[in-house]
Amino acid sequence: MTENTKLLDCDTGRKLGCKSFCCRLLIRLDEDDRTEIDPETQRKKGYVGKKDDGTCLYQDEQTGLCLNWDNRPKVCREYDCNFDKLLQVVFKSSNQSISCWMKESVTVFIHEKDKIFVPYL
Ligand code: SF4
Ligand code: SF4
Repeated sequence: MTENTKLLDCDTGRKLGCKSFCCRLLIRLDEDDRTEIDPETQRKKGYVGKKDDGTCLYQDEQTGLCLNWDNRPKVCREYDCNFDKLLQVVFKSSNQSISCWMKESVTVFIHEKDKIFVPYL
């Protein structure tokens, strides 16, 4: 666990409807987490691998849970969706794709009193 680890209650977040969008973002690895070699370039991989549908390689398709939780990269440990406008968009959106949420987040206004936050553990 790093000093800045955020222990968000992701179970509650999913029940609220976060759709585990965080694991569909492009996850850029910190230097310390760059251990895997890309066989094509022979260079260290700088990003977490993705499946064809854009979800993280480590995300369970059925449950949305991280299958690499104890060893997840630093960027995942420190990410706090409560400070990401996308969280509010995802809660209110009927769309399912990260690109739709990104587009919506540019135009949507969500009043402070209507915001929903994921609790911390
Ligand atoms: S960090 Fe936030 S968006 Fe990601 S799974 Fe947890 S509650 Fe959901
Ligand atoms: S490593 Fe785990 S927490 Fe990080 S993006 Fe992948 S599934 Fe999500």
